[in-house]
Amino acid sequence: MNAQTKMAIIAIVVVIPLTSIVVYGTNVNQEFTSNDNSKLQVVSSFNPLHEFSQIVGGEKIDATLLVPVGVEPHDWEPTIKDVQRMQKSDLIVINGIGFESWVDDLIENDYQGIIVNTSNGIELNSSKEGHEDEGHEDEHGHLEGDPHIWLNPLYAKIQVQNIANAFANSDSTNSEFYLANAEKYNKKLDSLDSKIRTELSGCNSDFIAFHDAFSYFADEYDLNQHTIVATTNSHGEVTAKTLEDVISTARELNIKVIFSEETVNTKTSQIIANEIGGRVLVLSPLEIVSEDNYISKMTQNLENLKEALC
Ligand SMILES: [Zn+2]
Repeated sequence: MNAQTKMAIIAIVVVIPLTSIVVYGTNVNQEFTSNDNSKLQVVSSFNPLHEFSQIVGGEKIDATLLVPVGVEPHDWEPTIKDVQRMQKSDLIVINGIGFESWVDDLIENDYQGIIVNTSNGIELNSSKEGHEDEGHEDEHGHLEGDPHIWLNPLYAKIQVQNIANAFANSDSTNSEFYLANAEKYNKKLDSLDSKIRTELSGCNSDFIAFHDAFSYFADEYDLNQHTIVATTNSHGEVTAKTLEDVISTARELNIKVIFSEETVNTKTSQIIANEIGGRVLVLSPLEIVSEDNYISKMTQNLENLKEALC
């Protein structure tokens, strides 16, 4: 037996006790399986929601992240394997507002679990002037528009609460645990919100992001977002015309920092920065998995915004 085979066997032996519960649940001694068997199987669509699910659910849930590490969730489509994984889950946590285009297919294919739409209760219509077109409803009553709610910490709080409510409803034995975890974490999000508010007050308000991800953030903190890619999708096209427009905006508003993102080529931002004698910093839309958590990533964004605006 070579080392590789050995490893494979070890892996199988380690994995089987967990998966066999699902497949052979009724045949196994319940004494040893009841704990794992009762864990909520939770699939979250992309990273901030996966983190929130883990914070709320702790050891009481089995949490799975759908969009793979390093992959950007706009335009991502699940494989057959992903769909099978989702079919077996108790709950699927989504952002909503059209961010998960695959979710309707899943419902049509008789998904038996609960879809937790974390945008429920977020009043996009009440956002400030200039964004009246945000948050209209489609023919199914679903909100459509800019999906980037998680970048406003106060909306993130609502997402966390929606997750906790859904877990509590599905697993009433542990409902207090889920609700207490959400309450504790939401206090941290409140502190993050005050920190952003305080530290950006009195600073300039115009910034140039890469893609149109920071409208809700900008609305919340009285900032004014301009973008290089003028769509809510980071793969949007950059044309010579958009470059020219951004450069003239930067000059008019005396902007010296051009933002980029982790997953995009910084070349575009660098061209603009060179043109205006400025520099490139990262403003993360938190769409891909990183070593940092939501709060530390948002704090890094705040630091970079302060460099740009204060
Ligand atoms: Zn985005």
